[in-house]
Amino acid sequence: MTNDKLHRAVQIIKEAEVFIITAGAGMGVDSGLPDFRGNHGFWNAYPAYNRLGLSFSECATPMHFIKDPHFAWGFYGHRTNLYRDTTPHEGFQIIKKWIERNGADYFVVTSNVDGQFQKAGYDEDRMYEVHGSIHWLQCQARCHDKIWHNDEVFRIDETTMHAGDPLPECKVCGKVCRPNILMFGDYAWLHDRTLAQNNSFNQFLKQNSCRRIVVIEMGAGEAIPTIRKISERTGGLEHSTVIRINPREPRISSPHISMTCGALVGLKQIDDAISFDQVNETLV
Ligand SMILES: [Zn+2]
Repeated sequence: MTNDKLHRAVQIIKEAEVFIITAGAGMGVDSGLPDFRGNHGFWNAYPAYNRLGLSFSECATPMHFIKDPHFAWGFYGHRTNLYRDTTPHEGFQIIKKWIERNGADYFVVTSNVDGQFQKAGYDEDRMYEVHGSIHWLQCQARCHDKIWHNDEVFRIDETTMHAGDPLPECKVCGKVCRPNILMFGDYAWLHDRTLAQNNSFNQFLKQNSCRRIVVIEMGAGEAIPTIRKISERTGGLEHSTVIRINPREPRISSPHISMTCGALVGLKQIDDAISFDQVNETLV
């Protein structure tokens, strides 16, 4: 990254009145979460599925909750445990520090279902989880429209990736329930919670559209471009600039800024430059 680009990123962050944080799967990598990109990444994280010859999209379908719920919860129970046990990396705190220092407002948009922003102390009411959250459950048969907290305990046999009994059930119809997240080929996802979050986000943008906005996008790839599109749309507002941090697909047109690196490295680089700037200001 050129000094000029870094200097601009520093200025934009120092002057921002509103932070829109947009995150894709790459955001979790620095916390030690597996990267499901391509079969290689997925099978590295889950060798059992490699042995079974199943890709991520073949594991992440609602069909398994009907045909083999122990197998289905083997996958989602393992991920629930993993996300509960993970500590969000320092980058989450760096952005929070910038927001607090500026006295700025913020909103988080994420395609991750892992709840890591809430875990890092971000406000549940400033969250738009576009694919839902693994920490909420719903009936697999949609016998009713309520969702509820995932407080279940999962024990997984990591050789077979099957979950042990008891499996969580819908209290109304007694069928095994499922996480409230959008899967592949999914016609049963209850999207009311995500829709309400989307409405809050749109309302937030409307109220803040004239202020100085920085969009910080991290680890959002082109394969499922939902997050990138939201970043670019928000970056199209009058006083809004996107900082796209991505090690593989960093491209974005000027005046937006791209950084070819992982989330934590990029955020630290900017934060170090801000600190350096402040030291210089003090000396002056
Ligand atoms: Zn039910």
